[in-house]
Amino acid sequence: MPIGSYTPSLVLISILVAMLASYTALDLAGRIATAKGQGAYLWIGGGALAMGIGIWSMHFIGMLAFHLPIELGFDLPITLLSLLIAILASGFALWLVSQPQLPMLQLGFGALIMGAGISGMHYCGMAALRMQPAIEYDPIRLALSLLIAFSASAAALWVAFRLRQQTPYVRLFRAGAAVFMGMAIAGMHYTGMSAAVFADGSFCGAVGTGLAVDGLDKLVLVTSLAVLSIALLTSILDARLESRTAELSNSLSVANRELTQLALHDTLTGLPNRMLLADRIEQAMRNAQEHHGCFALMFLDLDGFKPVNDAFGHHMGDQLLREVALRLREDMNGLNTLARIGGDEFVLLVELAERDDAPGFAARQVTLLSQPFIVAQNSVQISASIGIALYPGNGETQHELLMNADVAMYHAKAAGKNGYSFFDASMNTNARNLLQLQQDLRNGLKEQQFCLYYQPKFDAITGQPIGAEALLRWHHPQHGLLLPDRFIGLAEKTGLIIPIGDWVLNEACRQMRVWFELGYSHWRMAVNLSALQFGHDGLVGSVASALAMHQLPANSLTLEITETTAMNDADASMTVLRQLADMGVDLSIDDFGTGYSSLMYLKRLPANEIKIDRGFVRDLEHDSDDAAIVSAIVALGQALGLRIVAEGVETDKQQSFLTELGCDSLQGFLLGHPLPAEKFMADISAAEGKARAQTDASKV
Ligand code: C2E
Ligand code: CA
Ligand code: CA
Repeated sequence: MPIGSYTPSLVLISILVAMLASYTALDLAGRIATAKGQGAYLWIGGGALAMGIGIWSMHFIGMLAFHLPIELGFDLPITLLSLLIAILASGFALWLVSQPQLPMLQLGFGALIMGAGISGMHYCGMAALRMQPAIEYDPIRLALSLLIAFSASAAALWVAFRLRQQTPYVRLFRAGAAVFMGMAIAGMHYTGMSAAVFADGSFCGAVGTGLAVDGLDKLVLVTSLAVLSIALLTSILDARLESRTAELSNSLSVANRELTQLALHDTLTGLPNRMLLADRIEQAMRNAQEHHGCFALMFLDLDGFKPVNDAFGHHMGDQLLREVALRLREDMNGLNTLARIGGDEFVLLVELAERDDAPGFAARQVTLLSQPFIVAQNSVQISASIGIALYPGNGETQHELLMNADVAMYHAKAAGKNGYSFFDASMNTNARNLLQLQQDLRNGLKEQQFCLYYQPKFDAITGQPIGAEALLRWHHPQHGLLLPDRFIGLAEKTGLIIPIGDWVLNEACRQMRVWFELGYSHWRMAVNLSALQFGHDGLVGSVASALAMHQLPANSLTLEITETTAMNDADASMTVLRQLADMGVDLSIDDFGTGYSSLMYLKRLPANEIKIDRGFVRDLEHDSDDAAIVSAIVALGQALGLRIVAEGVETDKQQSFLTELGCDSLQGFLLGHPLPAEKFMADISAAEGKARAQTDASKV
């Protein structure tokens, strides 16, 4: 019986090739696990080729290391078949370990197939010798080799599966596992070889027709090493590229997150902004629909924030807003959203277990914000008005809900602030009309729809006209002629009162100049100022330029401010009034008696005139209290050296009574209605004509 022998160097090389093939296989398994889509299949295909060639060449070099006393050769087709089996088995193994899970059953089944593949390759490779008579196999060793093939496959699959993640020492682990696996594969091969029994007188049927052994070892070695190294290098380089890409995409997503945070949050308070709020409302609406739940949208606007901001500066204002946000946030749970959507406007989105929970929640926020804030060592007192829209019920879209909550908030403001109001459908028509009017107001100024009416003032004793009060009118394209009550409040709220007020000043001065030139240079033109204009920095400049533009002496102009305006923030008013008085402008305290003037303050005011409120005049004849008040005001005014004007004179009785009491001048429907300039002049001329006729008649 011919006994085989081995070339030790080739045996060693075959074992090393087995290890390298194992390492490549493990690396590729890791690569496949992170590759996506088409890439994964490419890697499995290429990997199967490299790994199959690796394992096969281990086997083939092992075969070449084997010598019999007879000449050996290899049948080419059978040899190629063994290579194909190795590639297919490798492909299957790589595919298996690239699956997301590898349960025991699958592992066992896989090991069976792979083991069969490796054994198949081996014994097929042996068959390529085409020994005559055929090789016999020692059954025990054969079984052992199959067992090794199976267990080595199982171990290899398990290790490859476990080591596919990129962990810090993964390469080291893979190298260790590759050494073990290489030895196991070689062990299988050499056990299988040792099972072969060659009969006496055997000869190799492949000699001559098949591959000759000489030089084949180097060719196979070089080829397989090349294939394995290329596969390994490609895999490593590609993994590096991928991790670089992953790093880049990671930093990109961090940047993205930051941008999103910026885009969706208010920078001052860090609270969600209008955009994020809209999203949350949509979400809450979907939630409520699915679970038949409900929520409240609360529009919260601070009362008295603007004065704080004006008095203490923006820096303090910002700090106050942050404190407000903090206080509100502390009271919120994670389910609810608190957003800031404008200067001092916040919105709370509150999930409700019961609709009836809303008032309690809103009341708590109102109380919470009515406690003083400490900002930069100052105690600041503000309050909040809240408008509440409920879902379902008060709107179908987030926009509608928000609008309705806003409308309800205005209602809460109008109802005295520091409180809350629930939305009601009737509010909406009012609000819509108001909104439209606001829009129209803007156009009104542009399109010169405003005009002034003039109401004459008369000397109480002589009955001579002494000037007029300019009263604003708006020719609204749809609503016709509108009185100031309809739009002054709105103009103040929107700030439009500033340009409108400037226009009034200018127009009144222009008209006064016309009268001045007609010979009424002793007249005074009275112009009403709103509190907002009075608090505006540009007022003194506007007055000065209107006077200069129409070349009027300052005392042709009387500025009327209401008592409440003058008394509000007395010190600031005093400064502005002083400046106006220093210019020589005449000042009148309008609606006198309705505010709470302190005598001391009144004494210091540089006013020239007080105008008794219409309310007292109206009830003069019936209400003895009013008569007493009017005579007290007259006495007070005289004591302080102020002119006394009575407005709203409608009856002869009122006229004579007020004259008797000592009023200096009178104004009212009895004496003249507010009229456009031409009609006003026509009336004056007619009255003068009549007076002249009377004097002429009396002369005759
Ligand atoms: P006011 O300053 O008290 O103006 C007098 C108001 O009383 C005018 O109403 C006038 O038409 C009305 N009136 C005059 N005589 C009588 C009378 O005998 N009986 C009655 N019942 N009313 C009389 P109007 O024009 O509707 O103005 C209302 C208010 O609007 C003014 O009250 C004033 O506060 C404000 N206003 C008018 N024009 C302007 C303006 O140009 N700028 C500002 N800021 N406010 C203005
Ligand atoms: Ca007035
Ligand atoms: Ca008045």
